[in-house]
Amino acid sequence: MSEENCLFCKILNGEIPADIVYESDTAIAFRDINAKAPTHVLVIPRKHISTMNDIEVDDETVIGSLYTAAREIAAQDGIAEDGYRTVMNCNESAGQTVFHIHLHVMGGRQMAWPPG
Ligand code: 5GP
Ligand code: ZN
Repeated sequence: MSEENCLFCKILNGEIPADIVYESDTAIAFRDINAKAPTHVLVIPRKHISTMNDIEVDDETVIGSLYTAAREIAAQDGIAEDGYRTVMNCNESAGQTVFHIHLHVMGGRQMAWPPG
């Protein structure tokens, strides 16, 4: 399912180019256009889900697959052992700007805690 005018659905269907680093039946991942770390990849479900609040019980396998993707990407980028962070922002106060859920995978530098 894709939503008109969704930026990440457009990346999914090839309308907008992206540096894709991982693909599975349920998810794809591409490098963030405005990377905040040496590795900054966005993992998205092929299914359009606007926010975490819209995740349904039937989506549990798909959501799990985002983390499998993150693990693979961390291994590919050689950051698995040093460590990396996964973040999913929900709605405005958390800083969500694209309303197709995405798991940020960030690493390759020391990450601060707590995030701003
Ligand atoms: P959010 O703030 O919603 O959690 O994260 C959205 C992310 O999408 C941001 O880190 C932003 O840099 C990234 N982004 C926005 N537009 C594009 C785009 O056209 N291509 C790519 N690769 N990343 C994008
Ligand atoms: Zn979408």
